[in-house]
Amino acid sequence: MAEPTFRAPKGTRDILPPDSGRLRALIGEFARIAELSGFGEVVSPMFEDIGVFLRLGETTDVVTKEMFDFLDKGDPPQHFALRPELTASICRAYAEHRPVPPWKIWYEGPQFRYEQPQAGRYRQFTQVGVEVLGADDPQVDIDVIALGWEFYAALGLRQVELVINSMGDASSRPAYIDTLTAYLRDHRDELSAQSQVTLDRNPLRVLDSKRAEDQVVIDAAPSMVDHLNEECGEHFAVVRAGLDSLGIPYSMSPRLVRGFDYYTKTVFEFVGEALGGAQNAVGGGGRYDGLVEDLGGPATPGIGFALGVDRILLACDAEGVFAAPPPSVGVFVVDVTGGSHALDVCQRLRAGGVGADRAYGGRSMKAQMKVADRSGAPYAAIIGEDEVAAGEVTLRDLRGDSGQRRIALDDLVSDVRSLIQN
Ligand code: AMP
Repeated sequence: MAEPTFRAPKGTRDILPPDSGRLRALIGEFARIAELSGFGEVVSPMFEDIGVFLRLGETTDVVTKEMFDFLDKGDPPQHFALRPELTASICRAYAEHRPVPPWKIWYEGPQFRYEQPQAGRYRQFTQVGVEVLGADDPQVDIDVIALGWEFYAALGLRQVELVINSMGDASSRPAYIDTLTAYLRDHRDELSAQSQVTLDRNPLRVLDSKRAEDQVVIDAAPSMVDHLNEECGEHFAVVRAGLDSLGIPYSMSPRLVRGFDYYTKTVFEFVGEALGGAQNAVGGGGRYDGLVEDLGGPATPGIGFALGVDRILLACDAEGVFAAPPPSVGVFVVDVTGGSHALDVCQRLRAGGVGADRAYGGRSMKAQMKVADRSGAPYAAIIGEDEVAAGEVTLRDLRGDSGQRRIALDDLVSDVRSLIQN
């Protein structure tokens, strides 16, 4: 094959059938589970005024280094960015529309980050997620985490692990950051060069480092959960007790600080153990009690998560679960009369709710049967001169061993429906 003139941009992919069907099925499953818990879908723009995302934090890589931003054609031009995540857009929407709290919403769609692409890391990737705005009750944290947990289980994944931590709040965090900064400064020379830079910009983010040379210092670092004030400590205790009572296993990690500056109190990550390697986070989230206010709305607590669909599908491959759904064409119509019978029979089947497809171009029986085979349809309806004369079709089983038989055209839809249901 000749080299194509154009390829999909670096870090993006075309998702073709049957993988696209699997993606759609996964989103459908997420929608089902979210709606069962009272969440409604929000569809928001794929780009926003860049200011919306800048509120996510000045030391957040996603904002400082990875934004796909552009000026529009206005005079003066407005500065926009493709969304790198959806929490900021949802908080902007909340501040704009002021829905009655608690506002429980779910979403799905592509996100854009200018990252170095590698396995499981793309420049355009799909997330599904939920947010609950306007409720600071720790019961919400439990509900949200449990929903993510249930979703992975519903896909058939068994090797997903939950890691949790608490980031404290505006009153407990400064004291912790002071303690942490003092500790990290004492060990500055033992840190990697990158972490020394991070230390000056955002000491918390040093805990996030995966670099081998940082691990000894990080392991011995003071932990946020030991510095929580009474309210944050109680909140976290209720969340843990709730997860225990639901039988959801978790581990605690003082290292889990998540990539965004806006988190408060509960933070969590779902790790796909079957993925191995560095890109094994299949989802994450946390509480962000100040974000709506930062975006110009009323003081509003919030919590949510985003799950990485592309990586979840890689985890499903690794665990051998959640295969692509079967093809929706039930009958492939093979018309060897060269007439318009295929058109009529396909219409009749589709009108009766049975997926139907056909070959084009007046090809031979053999050629059409080959296409029928490739279509994945379980049955072929063959139409020759004899069948037309008798008002019948020959129904051939393409996947099983029940051979073929002639049936009246008028019975085709009901016969195929009962065969497919069995
Ligand atoms: P975040 O919005 O960074 O908290 O990410 C939430 C989830 O989205 C992660 O756990 C990943 O599963 C997924 N994710 C984040 N960035 C990427 C990326 N560049 N490519 C694929 N998936 C991603």
